[in-house]
Amino acid sequence: MTIIGHLINGQNLADSTRTQDVFDPAIGEVTKQVALASKATVEEAIASAQAAFPAWRNTPPAKRAQVMFRLKTLLEDNAEKICAMITEEHGKVLNDAMGELQRGIENVEYACAAPELLKGEHSKNAGPAIDSWSEFQPLGVVTGITPFNFPAMVPLWMWPAAIVCGNTFILKPSERTPSSTLFICELALEAGLPAGVLNVVNGDKEAVDTLLNDDRVMAVSFVGSTPIAEYIYNTANANGKRCQALGGAKNHAIVMPDADMDNAVNALMGAAYGSCGERCMAISVAVAVGDEAADSLVEKLQARMADMKVGAGTDNSNDMGPLVTAQHFAKVKGYVDLGVEEGATLVVDGRGLSVEGYETGYFLGGTLFDNVTADMRIYQEEIFGPVLCVVRANTMQEAMDLIDAHEYGNGTCIFTRDGEAARYFSDNIKVGMVGINVPLPVPVAYHSFGGWKRSLFGDLHAYGPDAVRFYTKRKTVTQRWPSAGVREGAQFTFPSN
Ligand code: NAD
Repeated sequence: MTIIGHLINGQNLADSTRTQDVFDPAIGEVTKQVALASKATVEEAIASAQAAFPAWRNTPPAKRAQVMFRLKTLLEDNAEKICAMITEEHGKVLNDAMGELQRGIENVEYACAAPELLKGEHSKNAGPAIDSWSEFQPLGVVTGITPFNFPAMVPLWMWPAAIVCGNTFILKPSERTPSSTLFICELALEAGLPAGVLNVVNGDKEAVDTLLNDDRVMAVSFVGSTPIAEYIYNTANANGKRCQALGGAKNHAIVMPDADMDNAVNALMGAAYGSCGERCMAISVAVAVGDEAADSLVEKLQARMADMKVGAGTDNSNDMGPLVTAQHFAKVKGYVDLGVEEGATLVVDGRGLSVEGYETGYFLGGTLFDNVTADMRIYQEEIFGPVLCVVRANTMQEAMDLIDAHEYGNGTCIFTRDGEAARYFSDNIKVGMVGINVPLPVPVAYHSFGGWKRSLFGDLHAYGPDAVRFYTKRKTVTQRWPSAGVREGAQFTFPSN
């Protein structure tokens, strides 16, 4: 059976003392194994990244960017192969994988602007004959630890930006969906990255802890669930590393009584059930304002869900595929059982679904709960599956108070025709990414991505302008070349202009 190994110093390595099964969730069978790196293997990757750093740091940003131009073309040429790998391990529908890859490529395009992004800031005559400038220097060896649900896109949020800023990188992908991530990094080497600039170690906690505890690693980017994000952030900080750790979510959509209800329903179908709900920006709570809006919303959603096609991700006519693993399937199904116990109204029940020809796959149909309340665990906790909870509120303020009180603050949106209400909402809601009639407000690559509250630990968001700041440290230089005209005696007061 194929063992997916590591990429260290430009070489594929299979340190296969410890391995983990990789499943095809549509058929529920082990199709590959992934090597789980030992501490020694991770240390080899760190040494390789450290050795590559001095030369890469001194490579002109325009030359670093050239690699990204070539990588973009290679990613486009290999798009079908990459998406097939994603679907085989994650289960998402091929078209959805293509969307993910496209958003990843947009981050590579952003990295192509490295010379512009790293220009720095300059002030002539900051004082008499004094010039001052700020430059942005790379940190050194940096690392990224990524989740299963976007194996192409989330790593591409991290390493292209880090690398064009002059850092060298060690990526620790999800052990559940490792193939496309590794292949994309191999393409980066083909595009011209020198050996050691980008390394991949597959693995679990042992690999992550080695990265977190090694003094040679200067910064950590993490995307995954909130408990692990908090652990990563605290450990990295305790070890003196810069860290941004993006966590889980419970994204609410407010549906106002004046909303274009058909548009809201269309948007919610895709945002709640696309990718089987396994997106950190998925809408998992719809807060309907007023009973009339709630009744209409639930009725229309129920009608649309009857037509939803669930099946293997390899068939693009399907709306959604299976959940990623048997354990995750059991967890999500457990939440549906819990919702019934907690007294929510189960309007559409996705349990017991069998897909013809894929009877052993991890398929759960779209599920809809009505009359969900804030004290229920299905409301409070991240389910990360195809389960939409409808909560009824009397006013927009009540809906906003719910969102603000929730522990997560990743994304949110409002459906309304009222510009004033939308403006008040976006101005005041305590959430990092806000949509107005846009259900998945994932920022474009030249903005930055990040939630508030317990959806992000750290100060800087992922990709875009914040990534350039995260992966560099500012150095400010003040210079004067004394000449006869400005030569002065010793000055004992604090310099000012
Ligand atoms: P996860 O937290 O289980 O795993 C993420 C990474 O952490 C993986 O590489 C994994 O190997 C590693 N890891 C897991 N347990 C660890 C431990 N005990 N010690 C050290 N490392 C450990 O997350 P997941 O299930 O792969 O991904 C789904 C989660 O990610 C959801 O909560 C989702 O909301 C979140 N997510 C967030 C964003 C965002 O931008 N905020 C984006 C995508 C996914």
